[in-house]
Amino acid sequence: MSKIARRKFIQLSAAAATGCLAISGRDALADDLPHVSESDGMAMAMKYTNDASTVDPASRTNPAAEQNCANCALIQGNDGDAWRPCQIFPGKAVNAKGWCSVWAPKA
Ligand code: SF4
Repeated sequence: MSKIARRKFIQLSAAAATGCLAISGRDALADDLPHVSESDGMAMAMKYTNDASTVDPASRTNPAAEQNCANCALIQGNDGDAWRPCQIFPGKAVNAKGWCSVWAPKA
């Protein structure tokens, strides 16, 4: 291997390793969050459920048709993840298929 090829190999390896660390760190953060429990006091106050399909649409303040945590403006984290951080429940993760009375449409 030439000096230039070896240098390029080392640079690419370092970049790849940095990318792997960044991705695994982000995933670990989301995965490590405890899940919001439906019986938690705050969750009960917000009428949080892990399954939005169990909520009677007539009971919602906002009448938008399909409401779940995945399409709420307050959800955080990565699209497609089953459990994601939410601004209403700091330090915890909500179910992407869940719902609570604070649901708001994304802009
Ligand atoms: Fe789900 Fe939105 Fe309620 Fe958070 S604020 S629990 S994302 S519906």
